[in-house]
Amino acid sequence: MKNICDWNNCSEIGEYKAPVEKDNSKNFRLLCLSHVKEFNKNWNYFSGMSEEQICEFIKSDMTWHKTTQCFSSSDNFFKILWNNTLRDKIEKSKFNSQFDHMKQFKFSHNDVKAFSIFGLPVGLKWEKIQEKFKKLVKKFHPDMNLGNKKYEDKLKVITLAYTQLKNTYRIKIDT
Ligand SMILES: [Zn+2]
Repeated sequence: MKNICDWNNCSEIGEYKAPVEKDNSKNFRLLCLSHVKEFNKNWNYFSGMSEEQICEFIKSDMTWHKTTQCFSSSDNFFKILWNNTLRDKIEKSKFNSQFDHMKQFKFSHNDVKAFSIFGLPVGLKWEKIQEKFKKLVKKFHPDMNLGNKKYEDKLKVITLAYTQLKNTYRIKIDT
Protein backbone atom coordinates (compact mmCIF):
# COMPACT_ATOMS: atom_id res chain seq x y z
CA MET A 1 0.00 0.00 0.00
CA LYS A 2 1.32 3.40 -0.99
CA ASN A 3 1.38 6.39 1.32
CA ILE A 4 -0.49 9.50 0.33
CA CYS A 5 1.14 12.93 0.52
CA ASP A 6 0.45 14.48 3.93
CA TRP A 7 -0.01 17.95 2.42
CA ASN A 8 -3.50 19.45 2.66
CA ASN A 9 -5.81 18.17 -0.08
CA CYS A 10 -3.01 16.47 -2.00
CA SER A 11 -3.61 12.98 -3.32
CA GLU A 12 -0.18 12.28 -4.84
CA ILE A 13 1.99 9.46 -3.54
CA GLY A 14 4.03 10.57 -0.54
CA GLU A 15 7.53 9.14 -0.83
CA TYR A 16 9.72 11.93 0.57
CA LYS A 17 10.38 12.38 4.25
CA ALA A 18 9.93 15.78 5.86
CA PRO A 19 10.78 16.17 9.54
CA VAL A 20 7.98 17.15 11.88
CA GLU A 21 10.41 18.33 14.52
CA LYS A 22 13.79 19.74 13.65
CA ASP A 23 15.69 17.75 16.25
CA ASN A 24 13.87 14.48 15.79
CA SER A 25 14.44 12.74 12.46
CA LYS A 26 12.38 9.72 13.57
CA ASN A 27 9.28 11.84 13.49
CA PHE A 28 8.42 12.65 9.88
CA ARG A 29 5.58 13.10 7.44
CA LEU A 30 5.56 11.77 3.91
CA LEU A 31 5.16 14.20 1.05
CA CYS A 32 5.14 14.08 -2.73
CA LEU A 33 8.05 15.61 -4.62
CA SER A 34 6.47 19.00 -5.30
CA HIS A 35 5.36 19.37 -1.71
CA VAL A 36 8.64 18.30 -0.17
CA LYS A 37 10.24 21.01 -2.30
CA GLU A 38 7.71 23.50 -1.01
CA PHE A 39 8.40 22.32 2.51
CA ASN A 40 12.15 22.75 2.18
CA LYS A 41 11.79 26.18 0.68
CA ASN A 42 9.95 27.30 3.79
CA TRP A 43 12.41 25.77 6.17
CA ASN A 44 15.30 27.40 4.34
CA TYR A 45 14.82 30.26 6.69
CA PHE A 46 16.79 28.29 9.23
CA SER A 47 19.55 27.26 6.85
CA GLY A 48 22.94 28.47 7.97
CA MET A 49 21.71 28.43 11.55
CA SER A 50 22.87 25.74 13.95
CA GLU A 51 20.46 24.05 16.36
CA GLU A 52 22.00 26.19 19.06
CA GLN A 53 21.35 29.40 17.15
CA ILE A 54 17.75 28.41 16.49
CA CYS A 55 17.23 27.68 20.19
CA GLU A 56 18.85 30.97 21.07
CA PHE A 57 16.59 32.73 18.62
CA ILE A 58 13.49 31.17 20.16
CA LYS A 59 14.70 31.84 23.67
CA SER A 60 15.27 35.50 22.96
CA ASP A 61 11.72 35.83 21.67
CA MET A 62 10.48 34.29 24.90
CA THR A 63 12.65 36.65 26.93
CA TRP A 64 11.27 39.59 25.05
CA HIS A 65 7.80 38.66 26.26
CA LYS A 66 9.03 37.73 29.71
CA THR A 67 7.15 34.47 29.69
CA THR A 68 8.40 30.95 29.90
CA GLN A 69 6.49 28.60 27.70
CA CYS A 70 7.22 25.08 26.61
CA PHE A 71 6.77 23.83 23.12
CA SER A 72 7.03 20.24 22.08
CA SER A 73 6.52 20.46 18.34
CA SER A 74 7.22 22.90 15.54
CA ASP A 75 3.50 23.63 15.25
CA ASN A 76 3.30 24.53 18.90
CA PHE A 77 6.43 26.62 18.49
CA PHE A 78 4.87 28.65 15.70
CA LYS A 79 1.67 29.09 17.65
CA ILE A 80 3.59 30.59 20.55
CA LEU A 81 5.72 32.71 18.26
CA TRP A 82 2.61 33.87 16.52
CA ASN A 83 0.81 34.75 19.74
CA ASN A 84 3.89 36.60 20.90
CA THR A 85 4.03 38.77 17.81
CA LEU A 86 0.37 39.65 18.19
CA ARG A 87 1.05 40.77 21.76
CA ASP A 88 3.92 43.01 20.71
CA LYS A 89 3.65 46.43 22.14
CA ILE A 90 6.61 48.39 21.01
CA GLU A 91 7.75 51.35 23.03
CA LYS A 92 7.73 53.76 20.18
CA SER A 93 10.12 56.28 21.66
CA LYS A 94 12.83 53.66 22.04
CA PHE A 95 12.63 52.45 18.48
CA ASN A 96 12.22 55.84 16.86
CA SER A 97 15.34 57.24 18.42
CA GLN A 98 17.31 54.32 17.02
CA PHE A 99 16.30 54.89 13.44
CA ASP A 100 19.40 56.71 12.26
CA HIS A 101 21.71 54.38 14.12
CA MET A 102 20.17 51.31 12.55
CA LYS A 103 21.29 52.52 9.13
CA GLN A 104 24.88 52.09 10.22
CA PHE A 105 24.23 48.94 12.17
CA LYS A 106 25.89 45.84 10.80
CA PHE A 107 23.05 43.44 10.17
CA SER A 108 23.60 39.70 10.24
CA HIS A 109 22.99 37.40 7.31
CA ASN A 110 19.70 36.32 8.88
CA ASP A 111 18.63 39.93 9.36
CA VAL A 112 19.25 40.70 5.71
CA LYS A 113 17.29 37.59 4.78
CA ALA A 114 14.43 38.70 7.00
CA PHE A 115 14.35 42.12 5.34
CA SER A 116 14.24 40.48 1.93
CA ILE A 117 11.36 38.23 3.02
CA PHE A 118 9.48 41.41 3.88
CA GLY A 119 10.62 43.07 0.67
CA LEU A 120 11.92 46.00 2.69
CA PRO A 121 15.20 47.89 2.49
CA VAL A 122 17.72 46.89 5.14
CA GLY A 123 17.72 49.06 8.26
CA LEU A 124 14.21 50.41 7.95
CA LYS A 125 12.43 51.99 10.89
CA TRP A 126 10.90 49.48 13.29
CA GLU A 127 7.42 50.96 12.83
CA LYS A 128 7.61 50.32 9.12
CA ILE A 129 8.57 46.71 9.70
CA GLN A 130 5.59 46.24 11.99
CA GLU A 131 3.33 47.91 9.47
CA LYS A 132 4.48 45.61 6.71
CA PHE A 133 4.21 42.61 8.98
CA LYS A 134 0.58 43.35 9.75
CA LYS A 135 -0.18 43.75 6.05
CA LEU A 136 1.43 40.42 5.20
CA VAL A 137 -0.37 38.70 8.06
CA LYS A 138 -3.69 39.86 6.70
CA LYS A 139 -2.75 38.63 3.26
CA PHE A 140 -1.48 35.21 4.26
CA HIS A 141 -3.56 34.36 7.30
CA PRO A 142 -5.15 30.92 6.83
CA ASP A 143 -8.49 32.27 8.02
CA MET A 144 -8.48 34.52 4.98
CA ASN A 145 -7.42 31.71 2.65
CA LEU A 146 -9.73 28.85 3.63
CA GLY A 147 -6.99 27.22 5.67
CA ASN A 148 -4.72 26.84 2.65
CA LYS A 149 -1.55 25.21 3.97
CA LYS A 150 0.60 27.05 1.46
CA TYR A 151 -0.36 30.38 2.97
CA GLU A 152 0.05 29.04 6.46
CA ASP A 153 3.63 28.11 5.71
CA LYS A 154 4.23 31.50 4.16
CA LEU A 155 2.91 33.05 7.33
CA LYS A 156 5.33 30.98 9.37
CA VAL A 157 8.27 32.30 7.37
CA ILE A 158 7.01 35.85 7.81
CA THR A 159 6.53 35.39 11.55
CA LEU A 160 10.05 34.03 11.88
CA ALA A 161 11.48 36.91 9.90
CA TYR A 162 9.60 39.34 12.08
CA THR A 163 10.87 37.72 15.26
CA GLN A 164 14.40 37.76 13.90
CA LEU A 165 14.28 41.51 13.30
CA LYS A 166 12.50 42.22 16.56
CA ASN A 167 15.31 40.53 18.45
CA THR A 168 17.96 42.39 16.48
CA TYR A 169 16.33 45.74 17.07
CA ARG A 170 15.96 45.01 20.73
CA ILE A 171 19.58 43.99 21.11
CA LYS A 172 20.56 47.25 19.46
CA ILE A 173 18.53 49.17 22.04
CA ASP A 174 19.91 47.28 25.00
CA THR A 175 23.52 47.93 24.07
ZN1 LIG B 1 1.64 16.55 -2.35
